[in-house]
Amino acid sequence: MESTTNSNDYCGFCGGHIDTLMKHDGASSFKAINDKDTICSNCINTFADKLEDDELSIDEDGEISIDFSKTPKELVEELNKIIIGQDAAKRNLALAAYQHYQRVNSGQVLDKNNILLVGPTGSGKTLLAKTLAKTLNVPCHIVRANSITETGYVGDDVESIIEGLLEKAGGNAALAEVGIVFIDEIDKIAKAPSGTVKDVSGLGTQTSLLTILEDDDVVAYKKNEFRKNVTVNTKNILFIASGAFSGISDIANKREKKSTTSIGFTAVHSKAENDQEFLMSKLQNEDFVEYGLIPEFVGRFPIISSLKGLNEKDIEKIITEPENCIYSQYKQLFENEKTTLMIEPEAFVEIAKLVIKNKTGARGLRGIFNTFFADSLFECAGGKTKKICVLSAEDVKLNRPSTLRLSKSKAKEKKVNG
Ligand code: ADP
Repeated sequence: MESTTNSNDYCGFCGGHIDTLMKHDGASSFKAINDKDTICSNCINTFADKLEDDELSIDEDGEISIDFSKTPKELVEELNKIIIGQDAAKRNLALAAYQHYQRVNSGQVLDKNNILLVGPTGSGKTLLAKTLAKTLNVPCHIVRANSITETGYVGDDVESIIEGLLEKAGGNAALAEVGIVFIDEIDKIAKAPSGTVKDVSGLGTQTSLLTILEDDDVVAYKKNEFRKNVTVNTKNILFIASGAFSGISDIANKREKKSTTSIGFTAVHSKAENDQEFLMSKLQNEDFVEYGLIPEFVGRFPIISSLKGLNEKDIEKIITEPENCIYSQYKQLFENEKTTLMIEPEAFVEIAKLVIKNKTGARGLRGIFNTFFADSLFECAGGKTKKICVLSAEDVKLNRPSTLRLSKSKAKEKKVNG
């Protein structure tokens, strides 16, 4: 079997052989970028183009140049542009990422800061990880924990996670080695509580993941390249796991009560102590073990941070404030069709109420916008006259679609002309 592992005669990016590339494919140089990978000048040019498009970072000499110099404060400032609220999670994530990449840059032997994010669906966990990766300009691969299976079973195995990251890194192993892997719905691979029938697959998947979370050499096949593999080391990959862990606050509550009674006090808890938010901010490793994660697995996520459920005010802000928020996206969609979008301020409040009622988190916004605006967009698409699309609070309350009108100037013109 042909393999480019440790071979300097093949370009680690296009997979071409040095002789073929230099003689027939117009490559002018061939250079080693680390002890395993080489790159031809054709690929350097391709990646330089990508760099201009704000993509992943390889400079003209084929060196990986990632800006790891941002301070935690600067990282939080970037996250603030996109993510509303979740201040504690932003700070924790920014500090953990900063320390992680400091360690990568300096080569210091410090323990890895994998992160566990806990919070309700649609509260911004995935968005946080994606935005962090974009800010740092490192590849980010997102997988669902329950699609991963124990080695030897049908489904995605842990190697395929690294292959996914390699693909996001444009096939560049060195870039993949400093990327971010986001494992969603990690609570779905919790094993069933002891005393009940064991969820073998969850337990097996957790065990399989242990190997890559710390320091492992994974032989990963390059997508669309038959039998081309590279070795990716996972030591500097930042793993962020996330899940809703519904009911974990009850576990934390029990533990808190136990700890107060065991030292001789009666379990008197103030209102704040019983408060869900308070308990979520006090989660400990043992709560996750009680939930069904094995201790070795939880132990590999030293940073635990919880996200709050979004309230109405947060949702209102999410609609209108972040860069590329859904309101500005819809304004643009209508502008493309010569139509001005006008949403009554109170309508935003009603939409936020609807999101809370549907319990979807901010993830439900796109569907809601689609219900109110799909008909109007359909009607004005490709039209020649200027129009206005209006959505009132009453429309939202009555679940009525937005209405399209001729713009005032056009309406006047129509009146004059009869
Ligand atoms: P989850 O917590 O389930 O991972 P996501 O991060 O995938 O949720 O959120 C789904 C969508 O909802 C995001 O793409 C974004 O549009 C919106 N969203 C969720 N939370 C926030 C937030 N805190 N700030 C801004 N947008 C958010």
